[in-house]
Amino acid sequence: MNKETYKIFDTHAHYDHELFGGAGPELLKDMIARDVICGAVIPAITFESNFCRDQFPKEEFPSVYFAAGLHPKCVLNEPAWGSLKRLIDPGEPAGRPFSGEPGESGSRDQKNTAGRSFPGDPGEPVGRPFSGEPGELGSRDQKNIPGAAKRQQDRSARILDLIGDERTAALKTGLDFSKKKLTDAQKEHQKQFMKLFIGLANHYKLPLVLHVRDAAEECVEVLRENSPETEAVVHCFNYDMDTARTMMEAGVTRFGIGGMLTRDENGPLRECVRELPLPNILLETDAPFVRPKGYEGEINTSVTLAGTARLIADLKGIAVGKVIEAANRNAAEFYRLKNMS
Ligand SMILES: [Zn+2]
Repeated sequence: MNKETYKIFDTHAHYDHELFGGAGPELLKDMIARDVICGAVIPAITFESNFCRDQFPKEEFPSVYFAAGLHPKCVLNEPAWGSLKRLIDPGEPAGRPFSGEPGESGSRDQKNTAGRSFPGDPGEPVGRPFSGEPGELGSRDQKNIPGAAKRQQDRSARILDLIGDERTAALKTGLDFSKKKLTDAQKEHQKQFMKLFIGLANHYKLPLVLHVRDAAEECVEVLRENSPETEAVVHCFNYDMDTARTMMEAGVTRFGIGGMLTRDENGPLRECVRELPLPNILLETDAPFVRPKGYEGEINTSVTLAGTARLIADLKGIAVGKVIEAANRNAAEFYRLKNMS
């Protein structure tokens, strides 16, 4: 046993990402074999990344799960997914009703994509074409593109299929207003997708993974108007205790803590983690991103989780083993994982 042996569950890591140069699955398998970690959740970023699970076959990666959805920056390339919206909002006219009544198909156990149909089935007539209306609009380029309605039907149908996959442990959405100046229509578009995914999470009883960057207030607004009925984590959390409290009042149940905690400039986050009850904490790397202090110039991997856990233990004045034990239990509860070793 070496000192890396902690068997931590990495609640958020992108081992499909190109920064690993195709070596992500092997790296992940190796870390699980060496008991550095005991499993991981791989959340989607781009639409295409939702289909990375083929690289992680269940037989070889029995403790690896996925969060289906889109990074909020990536929704800017998508027209609104109206057909999915109609599925969870029966008030809107649909070409054909969803075969399962709302509420009836909610449980994950009852999920069965094989016979599932919904208004966006390929080949179905479209209720209303993508109109390019403000609010539906991701980027100017999407306006009136031929085939946009068909594209959104196909893409939302493929996501719906994934939601029925037993390895889908959560849905990923959020708001990211950082860096590039976004127009009001683009911000609204992100909010529409977030509302859509909250609706899907409620409908299919899946927890929500929220990416919230430079948009804490707006995230709370959306959550207040669209209450999640399942658990929700703000991943890569980097705010203060007041913000954490406000988010919890709006329905957030957990906070993903990773490399941000170690960075000198994030004093308010460390103060927050000192106060935050252990049951509200999930450990995550966001690998290959968000490398902790001391790993500059390197690609982040789950090896750094133990350092994050140690820092949390120091802040709280408790043993690191207690932090890891609690974080693993929290992860199993949050993602409703069975047989986590
Ligand atoms: Zn991520």
